Amino acid sequence: TPAESGMAAESGAAAESGTAIQSGAAIQPGTVIESGTAMESWLASRVAVREQRGIIRHDAQRNESMIDLASNDYLGLAGDQRLAVAAAEATTIYGTGARASRVVCGTTQAHLELERELCSLTGQETALAFSSGYAANLGVITALGGPGTLMIYDAHVHASIHDGIRLSRSPAISVAHGDLEAIRCALAQRTQPRAVVVLESIYSVLGDAADLVTAAALCAEMDALLLVDEAHGIGVAGNGRGAVHAAGLAEAGHVILTLTLSKALGSQGGAVLGPALLREHLVNTARTFIFDTALAPACAAAAAQGARIIMTEPQLVTRMHHNAATIAARCGIQKAPGAVQSIPVASSASAAALSAGLREAGVAVGCFRPPSVPDGVSRLRLTARANLKSEELEQAASLVAAAVRAL
Ligand code: PMP
Repeated sequence: TPAESGMAAESGAAAESGTAIQSGAAIQPGTVIESGTAMESWLASRVAVREQRGIIRHDAQRNESMIDLASNDYLGLAGDQRLAVAAAEATTIYGTGARASRVVCGTTQAHLELERELCSLTGQETALAFSSGYAANLGVITALGGPGTLMIYDAHVHASIHDGIRLSRSPAISVAHGDLEAIRCALAQRTQPRAVVVLESIYSVLGDAADLVTAAALCAEMDALLLVDEAHGIGVAGNGRGAVHAAGLAEAGHVILTLTLSKALGSQGGAVLGPALLREHLVNTARTFIFDTALAPACAAAAAQGARIIMTEPQLVTRMHHNAATIAARCGIQKAPGAVQSIPVASSASAAALSAGLREAGVAVGCFRPPSVPDGVSRLRLTARANLKSEELEQAASLVAAAVRAL
């Protein structure tokens, strides 16, 4: 406490109210923490809450020397020289940072070129680049939401969608994973004038695909918008052009897409795609667009190059699917439709032990446990890449299969 450390408490709420911070005691909102001891006890209380809730401890270790079955670089483009050259050229021309928000003076030719390439890739009328996929989801959901908009979302959607919905102050209903009938009921019973249904085209942990054709028909019938997060679909589904394009919904007026540039596109950043009026609305209302420094020009140029490569080299997509099929076959599971192959594991302790053992053996895999997964089923998440060498693929898949069998 300030008193214990001998510090004079000269200002701030704690000093004014005269309350000393007791080690381990609950700290009231507005309390000013003035000593290292108080900081430690504050953090210790947060750790205790996390442990009580069974929240997973993550690490942030280096993984370069491992065989990577965990990243989202599905087409291997993050290490492609052509993207590196595009990024270097953009850096030389525009500098390392965008310097300002897109609406001030942060928009460069690289941003506009990226948006054109994303439209060509997906068949959408317009695109708007954000500094991340997270910011894209937050931006579009808050711009569409509010008290008069009901948000209906699949329980397995990404954290950025959950956060966007909370931030939008919209009434919201979560439906069980893949339950289109529940979506129909929620739409039919709504009292709000507007509704948005939010799905992922390919789910990030489960690896399965949404039934976009039925969902889009339902939304058209019930006068709702369908927002599809294509983070794991772009570069993967439908020859790389995404699941919305493959489902013949690229020109459906009520379907909106969000993308990340950080997975198959090999860069960093995000985008929202849809009709021109949507783009105009976002430029004027999406706070994560207006109040955020623009995407770095290098990332924009690299992602544009990634999009061009996907359009001209669909064999990369084919190779990734071939590798995904090999991983699934070796592990005795049915191949999921995208790059993500998901193996259910009996308990969270077994999932943690499996992924730790594989890490020791030199293979990085994703480990997802409750409460990160809403259905309470722990999983190993394996991801395929187009540039996995056949020896490393065989070695890694066999190690995973043996570890799963041993358990
Ligand atoms: N949506 C989904 C489905 C994702 O998996 C992710 C990234 N994990 C995001 C959005 C966020 O994208 P970014 O990493 O570009 O912020």
